[in-house]
Amino acid sequence: MRYAVISDIHSNLESLTAFFEEIKTLDIGKTVCLGDVVGYNANPNECVELIRKNKIQCVMGNHDSRATGIEPVADFNLLAAHAARWTMDALTPENAEFLKTLPRSITVDKKFLAIHGWVDNTDSYIMGIRDAERNFELMRAMDKPVNLCFFGHTHVPLAYVEADGVIGSAAGAPVKIEKGASYLINPGSLGQPRDRDPRASFAVFDAKKSLVTFHRFEYDVHATAEKILAAGLPERLAERLKLGW
Ligand code: ZN
Repeated sequence: MRYAVISDIHSNLESLTAFFEEIKTLDIGKTVCLGDVVGYNANPNECVELIRKNKIQCVMGNHDSRATGIEPVADFNLLAAHAARWTMDALTPENAEFLKTLPRSITVDKKFLAIHGWVDNTDSYIMGIRDAERNFELMRAMDKPVNLCFFGHTHVPLAYVEADGVIGSAAGAPVKIEKGASYLINPGSLGQPRDRDPRASFAVFDAKKSLVTFHRFEYDVHATAEKILAAGLPERLAERLKLGW
């Protein structure tokens, strides 16, 4: 089975629609989403409905929990809080209910773990080797330990590898999944990339070949930016999309 792993769609309908076109030639059996379906951009309902319609397995992100009132927006920065409140108003009751019931983590087909932030916390960021080390420990401490985990939240595609007690990180290159080593992999963001590359980002895990590859594609970022302005969302959210930041 070949899995597409996506994250941080953030109500970006143009990139999500382009993603479905993009994977038509990639022989994908299942798509898994690492959370933050909504927030920042202007099409929350359309994005949730595409996730529901395509029966995509999805975990909850910190923006999904704020936009549905599970947790307060008080700890968000001003831009994120503004967008979360706007999203809360915009979501239909059915779509809000769908987001509210998302699990915090999923083990997909007994093959890999899907989370948003940390293994045990939706809101924390894996930012560097020390955070990765803690999360590798959490993966080993699970009832059914896994050696492969996909995480989101930072919007930066990156792989951490732990082998023989040493942890390294790499961006962009394919990652061969070996027995005896552990992997924490971020596919990057579909809807708001933050590595100075505005192209949408996702990963493919080929379970048969034990190989993870990173993918980028262009989408109509100007249309998404226009919608942000038309919706009355902060102008900076439109600008950062074009910069990939
Ligand atoms: Zn996010």
